Amino acid sequence: MLDLAYARHRMVDNQLARRGIKDENVLNAMRDVPREEFVEPGFEEFAYEDGPLPIGEGQTISQPYIVALMIEAAGIKPGDKVLDVGTGSGYAAAVMARIAGRVHTIERHAALGETARRRFEKLGFDNIELRIGDGTRGWPEAAPFDAVIVAAGGPGPPQMLMDQLDIGGRLVIPVGPETHSQRLLKITRTSGTKFEEEDLGGVMFVPLIGEQGWGEQRPASD
Ligand code: SAM
Repeated sequence: MLDLAYARHRMVDNQLARRGIKDENVLNAMRDVPREEFVEPGFEEFAYEDGPLPIGEGQTISQPYIVALMIEAAGIKPGDKVLDVGTGSGYAAAVMARIAGRVHTIERHAALGETARRRFEKLGFDNIELRIGDGTRGWPEAAPFDAVIVAAGGPGPPQMLMDQLDIGGRLVIPVGPETHSQRLLKITRTSGTKFEEEDLGGVMFVPLIGEQGWGEQRPASD
């Protein structure tokens, strides 16, 4: 039988550290969080493969390297307050919750959100708050955030998410004119009105559907 703890450590060494992920907080959190608990029943043996996996509703749990890249880029530190848009399986929120003080996570598909909520409870995460709804509007009552991570690609960075960043806060989001291929951007709020943008490279995410994302009329697979 596959030793999943061993596979998890190998994943961190081979897929993350060897590809340039250096943040020890990220590496340790991903050594710690059992990704096999966040995949569909029957997919556990594939949990540490180098790619995304289906989680139902036409959605995916992201490739481990992409999760690490986004969290490292967002510079999440102990004590930070983080917003995670697109809970999906809950895996990225769980990894961030191992590092940050508090994670607020929003998922538009109720069934996915409720499954993620049960996983957080089962694994004892008490610093994650989950809401079902449109994450492009952010979570105004909990703002400002030190970091906002968006795990779905939109046409541009939602203004409401930028407005909910603290000064010095970072938004990491895939954006682009097509629904399934994007540039991964890191946007840092340097003052009340100024934002700096860095392009972290090409990525492929499922579409961000919502008021400040793509419209509801997506292909059936969304
Ligand atoms: N971070 C997730 C994980 O660790 O499993 C992967 C997320 S998956 C690639 C993207 C998720 O974003 C999907 O579950 C999708 O339903 C969700 N999504 C898309 N648009 C959204 C929106 N406006 N608000 C909240 N969730 C959204």
